[in-house]
Amino acid sequence: RQARYAALRDLPARTVDGVDVNLMMNAGLMLDLPHLEEHGADGIGLYRTELPFMARAALPDVAAQTGLYSRILDHAGSRPVVFRTLDVGSDKVLPYWQGGDEDNPAMGWRSIRITLDRPAILRQQLRALLRAAAGRRLSVMFPMVATVAEFRAARRNLEREIERERAEAGAHGRPPRLPEEIAVGTMLEVPSLLFQLPTLLKEVDFVSVGSNDLLQFLFACDRGNQRLEGRYDALSPPVLNALADLVKACRAAEVPLSVCGEMAGRPLEAMALLGLGVRALSMAPPGIGPVKAMVRSLDLSQFAPFLASLLDRPDGSLRSRLAAYAHDHGI
Ligand code: PEP
Ligand code: MG
Repeated sequence: RQARYAALRDLPARTVDGVDVNLMMNAGLMLDLPHLEEHGADGIGLYRTELPFMARAALPDVAAQTGLYSRILDHAGSRPVVFRTLDVGSDKVLPYWQGGDEDNPAMGWRSIRITLDRPAILRQQLRALLRAAAGRRLSVMFPMVATVAEFRAARRNLEREIERERAEAGAHGRPPRLPEEIAVGTMLEVPSLLFQLPTLLKEVDFVSVGSNDLLQFLFACDRGNQRLEGRYDALSPPVLNALADLVKACRAAEVPLSVCGEMAGRPLEAMALLGLGVRALSMAPPGIGPVKAMVRSLDLSQFAPFLASLLDRPDGSLRSRLAAYAHDHGI
């Protein structure tokens, strides 16, 4: 199996009917980076910046962050990297940061809610990202955004940092050190954003679905609760209909869409996402080989209408139907 996936590494992720799919990997530590070559990923679709923050004894300063982000960009070379700003709280605990006890931490003071309330942390991180990406392309996205207003507030911090660098450069009579191109996007992992798409899609450069949190909140089902494991399925009409609507809205608005939750790295789930029209997936590196094998044996012109025909079913799960389809079509 491993040998089979290794043989696929340099082959394109293209379906039988010629649709190209962008297969990227998720990363968070320097030691994840060699997986780019090893698994033949097209880029890093989700760089979880909180992981280096979690591995330290204190909040890293701007210089330390700049060094880290530049090394990541150096390693990635021409491959895109999407940096997600600090996503702490809930299950991601910083040893030197106490948010206080909460009854419902997953729905509590976490992620963008913390960094909007403590803008110095966000500003420093954005300053480091701008410096690291000077002269190259920067993609940055914000996690756990629940309202368009939060996205705007977060982006405003980035704009302030750009203005700051321009002013500083002007004062020193040097050209500003800024990225050549900046894309600012949002994670879509809080269901409320699904109901603000016309407004949201006018403001963002891209959207990436965090299916782990999105499923947790769509079903009101704790993503880490063993007792509830298997109770609700990503391969079910409510989830697939929500994503189908999102795909249509993003296409109409010409906003690039990707999926970066765990769902993207499972071949059957990834097949369903492609059937809905998703064309970019970012996943844990070991998922890339199996997902590419699926892509290369899938005929979307047959599968997409089949999937569409299932979306109105009353089923709690479409998994067995999709598995049967994959089996019958040699996928
Ligand atoms: C997600 O929620 O799907 C996601 C990608 O973010 P994380 O797993 O880091 O919360
Ligand atoms: Mg998340």
